[in-house]
Amino acid sequence: MSSSSAQKPSTAALDPVDLYDVRDLLSEEELMVRDTVARFVDERALPLIPEAFDTHRFPAELIPEIAALGLFGSSIEGYDCAGMNSVCYGLICQELERGDSGLRSFVSVQSSLVMWPIHRYGSEAQKQRWLPRMAHGDVIGCFGLTEAHGGSDPASMKTHARRDGDDWIINGSKMWITNGSIAGVAVVWAQTDDGVQGFLLEAEMPGFSTHDIGRKFSLRASITSELYFDNVRVPDANRLPGVCGLKGPLSCLTQARYGISWGPIGAAIACFTTALEYARERILFGRPMAATQTVQRRLADMARRITTAQLLALQLGRLKDQGRMHPTQVSLAKWNNVRMALDIARDARDLLGGAGITTEYCPIRHMLNLESVVTYEGTQTVHELALGRELTGISAF
Ligand SMILES: Cc1cc2nc3c(=O)[nH]c(=O)nc-3n(C[C@H](O)[C@H](O)[C@H](O)COP(=O)(O)OP(=O)(O)OC[C@H]3O[C@@H](n4cnc5c(N)ncnc54)[C@H](O)[C@@H]3O)c2cc1C
Repeated sequence: MSSSSAQKPSTAALDPVDLYDVRDLLSEEELMVRDTVARFVDERALPLIPEAFDTHRFPAELIPEIAALGLFGSSIEGYDCAGMNSVCYGLICQELERGDSGLRSFVSVQSSLVMWPIHRYGSEAQKQRWLPRMAHGDVIGCFGLTEAHGGSDPASMKTHARRDGDDWIINGSKMWITNGSIAGVAVVWAQTDDGVQGFLLEAEMPGFSTHDIGRKFSLRASITSELYFDNVRVPDANRLPGVCGLKGPLSCLTQARYGISWGPIGAAIACFTTALEYARERILFGRPMAATQTVQRRLADMARRITTAQLLALQLGRLKDQGRMHPTQVSLAKWNNVRMALDIARDARDLLGGAGITTEYCPIRHMLNLESVVTYEGTQTVHELALGRELTGISAF
């Protein structure tokens, strides 16, 4: 079990963070991956995260260890990647986000939004050039889709690539790009005369610049940047040849959203166990807070929602590993599980009273982070509308 379950009350017959024995549904490899990442988060990441969050700093010193654990591009076979199944990837996301959503975002972008499209849509030369170095953490990637005028509507994209002999000339900008300023390679989606295409921009290309977005109150242990393209000349060899049209970026988002269906379970578990422990120890009106009916109902509701999220994520992972996962199922899981975690983080913050407003305790940090997670990779509304479209056959976007 992850160390969070070590905090369970000794009298409990059931594991408070695994009420339905989901662990019994995991293979030995899946359990080993989960426990290994849990140890890394407890021993290496959590001692750094609160300070990184407070000082608005990405803890880049963790990159070599994340790489050594095989967490970059973990689902890719070959190219020095670990070739694990989708449930393992989900468990990785869950444990990383038990530490911090910024840490999970960092790995999600590298794995699902940069390595995945290079592996899926790239030429053999592009795969050989980028994937091993990205697996080793020697190159960090970012994914440039969103533009300032409307992230929910990527079809309104203005960034443009014009063919010029053997090259392309790219102009435009991207907004809210995770890992932007530390990326050696950026997957940038641009309009062309043939539709949206993906290009691998290299940090040193003339005309390509970045600017970090400051004053964030969310994902403070993560870098978020703007990308600018001023007549960037990109060889055709840097274009992803395997896809044309919006289905390219949208298929990447499905991969990342799958991981985000798991990640917030970790954040919710961290908040829930913190609130549970606090409620048992805090004496008010001569008895532990945990002895009151309203507090027990709130804790029970957290446990109920975590349990359903765990089962939802695991079934989604099994469907993915069988090649049967539908994007609408991912929408439902991303929406449900992020909403679950955000509600639990807010309630746990409240249960801690005044103590809950400091980053001494994790709930307010997770709560603030989850405000980004509910917005990025499709807002809750966007996923509700995706499910609505599936049910009615009518697009209401
Ligand atoms: C910290 C962070 C990191 C990010 N990282 C990346 C990244 O690495 N790469 C990348 O490309 N993008 C990234 N994003 C961008 C993210 O995906 C967008 O912020 C998101 O898609 C929403 O777009 P927007 O901010 O432009 O909001 P808008 O699209 O303007 O939405 C504003 C509001 O309108 C609602 N809305 C939208 N459409 C409808 C509708 N049809 N009907 C009713 N309401 C609607 C939305 O739900 C939302 O409440 C990141 C964002 C953040 C905050």
